[in-house]
Amino acid sequence: MTKYSIFSLVRNALSYHENWQKAWRSPDPKPEYDVVIVGGGGHGLATAYYLAKECGITNVAVIEKGWLGGGNTGRNTTIVRSNYLWDESAALYDHSVKLWETMSQDLNYNVMFSQRGLLHLAHNVHDMQEIGRRGHAIYLNGIDSEFLSPNQVKELVPFINLECRYPVMGALLQRRGGTARHDAVAWGYARACDAMGVDIIQNCEVTGFEIDQGTVKAVETSRGRIGAKKVGVVTAGHSSVMAEMAGFRMPLESFPLQAFVSEPLKPVIDVVVMSNAIHAYISQSDKGELVIGGSGDPYVSYSQRGSFDQIEHVAGPVVELYPIFSRVRMMRQWGGITDVTVDRSPIITKTPVENLYFNCGWGTGGFKATPGSGHVFAHSIAKSEMHDIAAPFSMDRFYTGALIDEAAAAAVAH
Ligand SMILES: Cc1cc2nc3c(=O)[nH]c(=O)nc-3n(C[C@H](O)[C@H](O)[C@H](O)COP(=O)(O)OP(=O)(O)OC[C@H]3O[C@@H](n4cnc5c(N)ncnc54)[C@H](O)[C@@H]3O)c2cc1C
Repeated sequence: MTKYSIFSLVRNALSYHENWQKAWRSPDPKPEYDVVIVGGGGHGLATAYYLAKECGITNVAVIEKGWLGGGNTGRNTTIVRSNYLWDESAALYDHSVKLWETMSQDLNYNVMFSQRGLLHLAHNVHDMQEIGRRGHAIYLNGIDSEFLSPNQVKELVPFINLECRYPVMGALLQRRGGTARHDAVAWGYARACDAMGVDIIQNCEVTGFEIDQGTVKAVETSRGRIGAKKVGVVTAGHSSVMAEMAGFRMPLESFPLQAFVSEPLKPVIDVVVMSNAIHAYISQSDKGELVIGGSGDPYVSYSQRGSFDQIEHVAGPVVELYPIFSRVRMMRQWGGITDVTVDRSPIITKTPVENLYFNCGWGTGGFKATPGSGHVFAHSIAKSEMHDIAAPFSMDRFYTGALIDEAAAAAVAH
């Protein structure tokens, strides 16, 4: 694999950039693999990467029904943070933030991770109590968090309207939070996986599982049967569909979640601002677009489209808080299918079928967890035993009642 560097850039410039090596191959599926990963989003690709890199398992295929990153990985608003309430979540999300910090170097691919800081605004007494409780819990877990007064918020976002219909009473700041380039994450992992011998098979839909005496033996696909000693399913909004194919139920509901980008502007806002009470959050991409998201749609659906009521629901509060954006034109709007659990925490788990593992339930907030999720899932699959960080997120918690309730930290969407 060509190492990306200033030297390879210059070398390829001499041949008018016509000889760059393909970032990954498109092989035909082999009859059998040690591990088949279903789903070529960030989490699936990260799992394959860590299987190959850290667990020495390179006879791996990633099977994707569409194109890499075409699911939620390429549709999200790219916010990365680890300011979650419970110890289990703090361990998982901060493990991830630490991996983000070296990801571009590890993958030799610029994922444009930008730790520009992330604010959670508080607009009422309840919000103040929530950020107070969460801020202290985060601090006790050794994760950076600071309380800001309204004036300190104004220093970071000078044009914010503190005295509007949604008065700003304070904020929680995580300076290590920020954003990354979403599809670069999928492409960077795919390229690194391919270099280690992992087969990436796009346009191949998994349509069923071959299960013999309670053990998975193969996946049935639109390109035929592919044998597998172990299977990891990482299909986000379609996870309950996959579970049904395997003969059990996954405690998930799938909701559309929408986002928007504006026309490109000159640099105007250099932090990410989230606002739980008013269901709107905003950041600015490196291209200059305002990236804006809100809450999930209030009905279950497999639609990946935008809708007018959500534009109104999100744009109203944004204009109220940031009047300078009132004449900015919106350029694109889209939706993704989020897989939501009752406690708003993910499921990383063994299943009733031997050697079949699921990683899902990330809902509206899994992009930030991409490297950490892939890392702990890979180790769990390789050792046939859940990684310590993943263990509390087993699907058993819905029987035992040991839920990890992150409805508040999961923030705007719920
Ligand atoms: C609008 C929006 C905004 C969001 N904003 C944020 C944010 O700011 N921060 C954050 O942390 N998270 C955010 N999220 C959530 C985040 O995008 C997801 O949790 C995360 O990207 C999930 O990654 P994944 O790899 O598990 O899923 P995906 O990227 O969806 O990948 C799953 C893949 O499985 C494939 N697949 C499905 N069924 C099959 C099958 N039968 N056979 C083969 N392949 C199959 C799909 O085609 C898809 O490519 C947002 C989500 C949306 C929709």
